[in-house]
Amino acid sequence: MSKLVVVGTVAFDAIETPFGKTDKILGGAATFIGLSASHFNTEVGLVSVVGGDFPQEYLDMLKNRGMNVEGIEVVKDGKTFFWSGKYHNDMNSRDTLATELNVLADFNPVVPDSFKDAEVVMLGNLHPAVQLGVIEQTPDAKLIILDTMNFWMDSALDLLHEVIAKVDVITINDEEARQLSGEYSLVNAARKIHEMGPTYVVIKKGEHGALLFHGEDIFFAPALPLEEVFDPTGAGDTFAGGFAGFMAASGDYSFENMKRAIIYGSNFASFCVEKFGTERMQSITNKEIEERLEQFKALTKFELKTT
Ligand code: AMP
Repeated sequence: MSKLVVVGTVAFDAIETPFGKTDKILGGAATFIGLSASHFNTEVGLVSVVGGDFPQEYLDMLKNRGMNVEGIEVVKDGKTFFWSGKYHNDMNSRDTLATELNVLADFNPVVPDSFKDAEVVMLGNLHPAVQLGVIEQTPDAKLIILDTMNFWMDSALDLLHEVIAKVDVITINDEEARQLSGEYSLVNAARKIHEMGPTYVVIKKGEHGALLFHGEDIFFAPALPLEEVFDPTGAGDTFAGGFAGFMAASGDYSFENMKRAIIYGSNFASFCVEKFGTERMQSITNKEIEERLEQFKALTKFELKTT
């Protein structure tokens, strides 16, 4: 079976949306990525760090869902990364209220020996120095996928450029693509980002779907129109996890196959937003995933005769 290394935050989140508010609940980029990637036929190894305040039951839950958590370091006398955010009424934009790095501030990632030969590496959102550390420890990787956000563009841009130069795929949201490239048009932004290194550029547009760019080729995956979006937190990571899990399980890293991978990513993200935090991702069944894939097909299928 193929192997997928996932590095990213494992966190406590406090979230406020127009529908309600949570105290500290389980969150983090690696958590959401792992919860979607583990639905595929690939071994998923998480690399992250938590503090002594992180409940064992959360680690057990990740293990029970098939993830390898050997690479999650527990710093007994430290505190877990904490993020808090508040969504505006349209749910497309949010304010970050707090980002407390805590144990992440001095984290040196260690990829477990059994995952050093992984074929696919998913660099989830965290400090680019940590992402570089993981690239160095996975020399056999055939596909490296990067996700990042404006926080790291603002605080560690040079190191982030070093990472971007080494990856095959970058997934990024539209605002971040504009910030990174200095271009408003997403086509121009993708072109500039290609020049920084990645052969494939995926631009996520929230409820408006995602674009996959490969040179002059472009593919679009819609987001599923939902009656109610309860909490968008983690949707981008969940998308990346579905994408990475599908790619790792199939072993086919072509543009054609990436089209399928972004449909899977969009499919998982549509579940993620239905409840607070990771709750919905912990309960989805394979039957639900299959049914929703049919909805995705129906959403964009049409016949048209051209002359
Ligand atoms: P998303 O909604 O896809 O941007 O992901 C939200 C998740 O990312 C939350 O669960 C947070 O714990 C985590 N997160 C927020 N800010 C950061 C950051 N600066 N670095 C890494 N992870 C973060």
